[in-house]
Amino acid sequence: MPTSEPDRVLGRRAARLAVVDPATGETFDEAPDQQPDELDAVVDRAHRAWHGWRADPVARTTALRAAADAVETAGDDLARLLTREQGKPLAESYAEIARTAARLRYFADLAPRTRRITDGRPMHSEIRWRPLGPVAAIVPWNFPLQLAAAKFAPALAAGNTMVLKPSPFTPLATRLLGSVLATALPKDVLTVVTGREPLGARLASHPGIRHVTFTGSVPTGRAVAEAAAASLARVTLELGGNDAAVLLDDVEVDRIADRLFWAAFRNCGQVCMAVKRVYAPARLHAEVVEALAQRAKTVAVGPGLNAETRLGPVNNAPQLASVEQVTKQALADGARAAAGGHRLDGPGYFFAPTILTDVPPSSPVVAEEQFGPVLPVLPYRRLDEAVAAANGTGFGLGGSVWGTDLDQAEAVADRLECGTAWINHHAELSLAQPFAGVKNSGVGVAGGLWGLYGNLRPFVVHRPQEA
Ligand code: NAD
Repeated sequence: MPTSEPDRVLGRRAARLAVVDPATGETFDEAPDQQPDELDAVVDRAHRAWHGWRADPVARTTALRAAADAVETAGDDLARLLTREQGKPLAESYAEIARTAARLRYFADLAPRTRRITDGRPMHSEIRWRPLGPVAAIVPWNFPLQLAAAKFAPALAAGNTMVLKPSPFTPLATRLLGSVLATALPKDVLTVVTGREPLGARLASHPGIRHVTFTGSVPTGRAVAEAAAASLARVTLELGGNDAAVLLDDVEVDRIADRLFWAAFRNCGQVCMAVKRVYAPARLHAEVVEALAQRAKTVAVGPGLNAETRLGPVNNAPQLASVEQVTKQALADGARAAAGGHRLDGPGYFFAPTILTDVPPSSPVVAEEQFGPVLPVLPYRRLDEAVAAANGTGFGLGGSVWGTDLDQAEAVADRLECGTAWINHHAELSLAQPFAGVKNSGVGVAGGLWGLYGNLRPFVVHRPQEA
């Protein structure tokens, strides 16, 4: 790997970041551990590239479509590397890459609308939309490519350039994606930087950055907002969730059990909008626990590269420790594990898929975000209680309602305090929809036209009707 510019100047040896395969717990490769002082040159290049990139929307559309093609062409290499460093089953990595390409294509063809406003005076105002400048994107390790694409596709389509920082736990697939995209995009339009903190904090506060778009945990989101306040850059925060699934009295447990299980356990439960708590009517509670526990006990857990694996390891050692800690706390609080409840023996960061019952609502596995393969199932007697409990945390990302009478389910869904409510499924998103959390789950709106406008500023020209 070539030595970077500041390293040459300062005569120091480039630092490296060890990357661990979560299926083995062993280091298998490394990435550059870039230092904050390298960001000045990176942001400066992003700024210079912006002038050309913003100028020609037709060329942008062509380049973004070519970028989508390039991602698909590199799909096999990207998928294997993503599974190796993230842990998810290979089929899920392929799905993530498909969504990355789809996002590029969707935003390549989306354009803001110039609007004219007249208000009776002999003049009109025309609203034109302008890009912001270099955008910083900071993303977590659960969907490194897809979440990065959710940021770079609208930002670049809007005419901005971007500096993208993946999590230090998953730098490799993003670096490969960066070089794949570089075959289709002009130089320095998208730059990937990798390294430990304070690289992200420095990027968020960099004076050359005009928009900081962040996905990650609530505490880090607060730190990012504070850092960006230094330069008063625009901030978009997509933060944690603690989504509830409310099962109604007429739900057919057999019919929904598979969907509900995977809404909680896909990507080993490491999904911001996974089902993280289930509220079941008391008379159906035992049946729901049994249906989920039976699936948890029999699902194929293993390395993501094994063809039969449906559930991989937790991504990293601190997250495994956190999942283990909230589970132990729940058991100490009086919960019972109907399935799992412990780490799996052997190498790697594997945790047995866990269904918890008899959990006090104040236990952190209910009140906080567990972000792992552990699901509490709580009984309720009155529907109002379930809705109040679903709305009773500081989070407000998503929620779902499950039942046979769709009108009733929709009426209950309408009462959920969150950004997206689903009926009889969970976490399905359309590229065209807005995506926004309420309460601690986020600031700003991503997705669809809203995501595009989030990367633009209005520029208004007033013009008289006559000279
Ligand atoms: P995290 O907040 O620890 O890290 C996210 C990113 O921020 C990483 O790249 C990290 O290196 C960087 N970072 C850490 N400290 C920073 C600082 N002081 N300044 C700037 N950047 C910093 O989150 P994580 O553990 O990687 O991811 C899990 C969290 O992400 C969960 O809470 C999950 O719900 C959330 N998430 C939310 C969404 C959403 O769309 N709302 C999607 C996926 C994940």
